[in-house]
Amino acid sequence: MRLHEYQAKQVFAEAGIPTPDAALAETVEEAVEAASSVGYPVAVKAQVHVGGRGKAGGIQLAGDEAELREAADAILGMDLKGYTVDRVLVEAAVDFVDELYVGVTLDRSAARPVAMVSSEGGVDIESVAAETPEAIAREQVDPAFGLHPYQSRRAVFDAGVDGAVALDVASVLATLYRLWDANDASDAEINPLMVTSDGAVVAADAVLNLDDDALFRHPDLAALSETSYEDDLERKAGEYGFDYVRLDGNVGIIGNGAGLVMTTLDLVDHYGGEPANFLDVGGGAKAERIANALDLVFSDPSVEAVVFNIFGGITRGDEVARGLNEALGAFDEIPIPVVVRLAGTNAEEGMQILDTSLVQVEATLEAAVKAAVEMAGQGADR
Ligand code: GDP
Ligand code: MN
Repeated sequence: MRLHEYQAKQVFAEAGIPTPDAALAETVEEAVEAASSVGYPVAVKAQVHVGGRGKAGGIQLAGDEAELREAADAILGMDLKGYTVDRVLVEAAVDFVDELYVGVTLDRSAARPVAMVSSEGGVDIESVAAETPEAIAREQVDPAFGLHPYQSRRAVFDAGVDGAVALDVASVLATLYRLWDANDASDAEINPLMVTSDGAVVAADAVLNLDDDALFRHPDLAALSETSYEDDLERKAGEYGFDYVRLDGNVGIIGNGAGLVMTTLDLVDHYGGEPANFLDVGGGAKAERIANALDLVFSDPSVEAVVFNIFGGITRGDEVARGLNEALGAFDEIPIPVVVRLAGTNAEEGMQILDTSLVQVEATLEAAVKAAVEMAGQGADR
């Protein structure tokens, strides 16, 4: 479960991390009210679960009411990478001289938590990690002992943070680790942690992602989940009863069985494509289930081609094929190409039955994935 910026900031603030004064708004009028209680200038920030809101136009600064109205009007209701902005956080703008990064996550290869500091804050930390990994100072944590105070200080020193704020930054990192640990978080991140012109540090952004399997231990945080503001696609998937995770790419993936779907994801990546989702339709192949799966994946505006990968056990290839024909036959126009690979029980028969005016049939998974990656790369007209 991902908290919104405004929720994560509340958790951080309660733990003693400085955050700007802020108020939430759903309408332009509410934004005006929020800004007058917070005081101009303000930052108007879209509250949606996407990174890089700044670059995408979801964050604007406003110096007075007229600018605020314009900013709030532009951001409220806007489509940010497929998410409709319902609310904005109106926040006292920070007069900053520097932007840092602090974060805690799980280093899966080391099987340990890792605490990180970088003086290259404010930008996409993944690209910093890819291009200049040495710009991120890392401390592996022994979870039995937690992040030692000397480790926080060393990370800050190694990152080259200005001495005037070093101890404050170390203290923020220590608090962030405690929050990460205490809340069973998967990621806790402040990017940017701003250094103000008068030498203070302020969390200008906040990320707190929680481990769903541990949520039962944190009913207070679980209560912050807002289904009405969840990704529409994930909500729809829940209604259909699918295991679905939305990803960033453009190749839609439908399969039966988690392992098979994961393998398909890996192959899409292997052939240079980017998976748009994980979708496990489970057992059975009723036309309705297939239609729902296609509807879900077609509803994702970033999907440009679909791989449909079924391994028949109890699920029979001929049934799947009939289901696909029926489901796709119901569309006036199929919005994006679908590549099908069937294997296992009655696969041969299924491939015969499939209507090739509706789908492209490939005999092997590799060929199906390659074809879908290629078509997605060419970019379907949508
Ligand atoms: P993200 O793009 O979704 O990560 O959103 P952030 O909250 O990190 O904001 C992105 C960028 O917007 C920051 O790195 C700043 O450069 C700018 N920004 C955000 N809040 C403020 C603010 O209060 N004051 C000023 N001057 N700039 C801000
Ligand atoms: Mn950020």
